[in-house]
Amino acid sequence: MSRGGCGSVCDSGALMPVDEAIRYLLDQAPLPPPVQRVALDQALGRVLATDVRCPMNLPPWDNSAMDGYALRAADLPVDGGYLTLAGRIAAGEAPGQPLQAGQVVRIFTGAPLPPGADTVVPQESCRVEGERVWLPPVKGAEHVRREGEEMQRGDRLLQAGKRLRAQELGLLAGAGIARVEVYRPLQVGLLSSGDELREPGQTLAPGQIYNSNRHSLMALLRGWGLEVHDYGVMPDKLLASRQALSLAATECDLLLTSGGVSVGEEDHLKQAIEALGSVDLWRLAIQPGKPLAFGEVAGKPWIGLPGNPSAALITALIVVRPFLFRAQGMDEVLPTALQLPAGFDWLKPNRRRQYLRAKLTPAADGSLCVELHPQQSSAMLAAACWADGLAVVECQAQVHKHDKVMYLPFASLMH
Ligand code: AMP
Ligand code: MG
Repeated sequence: MSRGGCGSVCDSGALMPVDEAIRYLLDQAPLPPPVQRVALDQALGRVLATDVRCPMNLPPWDNSAMDGYALRAADLPVDGGYLTLAGRIAAGEAPGQPLQAGQVVRIFTGAPLPPGADTVVPQESCRVEGERVWLPPVKGAEHVRREGEEMQRGDRLLQAGKRLRAQELGLLAGAGIARVEVYRPLQVGLLSSGDELREPGQTLAPGQIYNSNRHSLMALLRGWGLEVHDYGVMPDKLLASRQALSLAATECDLLLTSGGVSVGEEDHLKQAIEALGSVDLWRLAIQPGKPLAFGEVAGKPWIGLPGNPSAALITALIVVRPFLFRAQGMDEVLPTALQLPAGFDWLKPNRRRQYLRAKLTPAADGSLCVELHPQQSSAMLAAACWADGLAVVECQAQVHKHDKVMYLPFASLMH
């Protein structure tokens, strides 16, 4: 792993732009984990390792999109008229005899069209009179799903690098594919650092706080489809930190820690990692955030997040997520950004790009605008719980009400 990606920038006291950090990390992402063949019911959230070709035409044959009557459009007079009822085909039945001139067949949604039929008229527009059916005028080729109109045999059904959601699993199943080649989930070792941390449920002594990041980061990693190995808290001691980190490095593909990377920290974490691998301490132009570390521990990539809970959450969402997604073999790693009108003024330009806890609220005319939570501290999470996304204000920028502002919905960051 190369080092010093931002050395000159950081050493000069300048801040590293967020996009540069993301690009650098994407370049450094390790190759994806080994490939596994899994059954569809094990494949939710997994990333396809190979392109999947469609083994059949979809739909496999012409079929009706409605309950109604199938006919040859040319048989019907232009103003509509009577045709002879010649049979009935339900879903699951074979298409039966070819349709003769002047005939209609009763047909149900999903049933195969009889040979010769080219259109279906919904039942509510027809009138049955004994052996005859009156039908309204038709244009032809209506309410029919044509063989291969969605996908042809041999077409690419899904592309390698795609994460499988409900709709992809349904598509694969619909094409008769029972197993897929996916990457094994990344094994991420998670460690918190700080002697002050206790677990929820324990009693706090003076000076102690509860470990928030362990739970928020574990939830993020799991939501991203990764496997978490939880190593709890590393004490602020060199030997214990080294031991915890080396164990995690032998058991995991990569390591994520929180805390212990800010300036003025007792730097046991830095020393421990230097003894086992390498460390770059970055100062990112991001708020909340700024201190972020990247390096390796016994050959495994390591990212050190800041300790403050909101800073840890947001740097994980913005900077770490693309790196982990790329390491997991995913193609699309950046979140979907929206441009929406600001419902606020931001008049304090800052040298760091702001990721503000925000929410979409309907304006008087029903259009959406971006509102900010009044509390934007990097130590506090309540604003992030109120929020449904992040408003992004560029370095040194001001925002006036009604200006367009970039908005990243949590929905596109948490999955
Ligand atoms: P550090 O980066 O270790 O200097 O920590 C910065 C701030 O974040 C301090 O106030 C820490 O107490 C706090 N902090 C660090 N880790 C955690 C954690 N896992 N949960 C909650 N707060 C934390
Ligand atoms: Mg600390």
